[in-house]
Amino acid sequence: MSKKKEAKKIVFNSEKEMPAAPMSLGSMLYNKTGAWRNIKPVIDLSRCIKCGICWKFCPDASIDIVDDWPQVNYDYCKGCGICAEECPQKCIAMVEEEK
Ligand code: SF4
Ligand code: SF4
Repeated sequence: MSKKKEAKKIVFNSEKEMPAAPMSLGSMLYNKTGAWRNIKPVIDLSRCIKCGICWKFCPDASIDIVDDWPQVNYDYCKGCGICAEECPQKCIAMVEEEK
């Protein structure tokens, strides 16, 4: 199996170094897209059955499974609500973000 490449951060020292055309500013690992969110998922673990469906459906891979329990990574979650929609227990609430 080939070794996974390390993502490199792209740094511009001034706007003159920036490209004339739009481009992605490097890996999503460096772009904490959670700032885009205005609602966030909150999981009621007392009702969670550890099925992992939220983890499977999250389009941003923003749900980790820690000791079998789902945990939202708010650095990257964009608040799309898909996890809440798909949860069979309906134990994920989308709540307004405090700014
Ligand atoms: S709200 Fe969307 S991005 Fe955030 S954890 Fe749920 S599915 Fe993933
Ligand atoms: S989909 Fe719902 S019940 Fe299943 S692991 Fe996620 S939060 Fe728990």
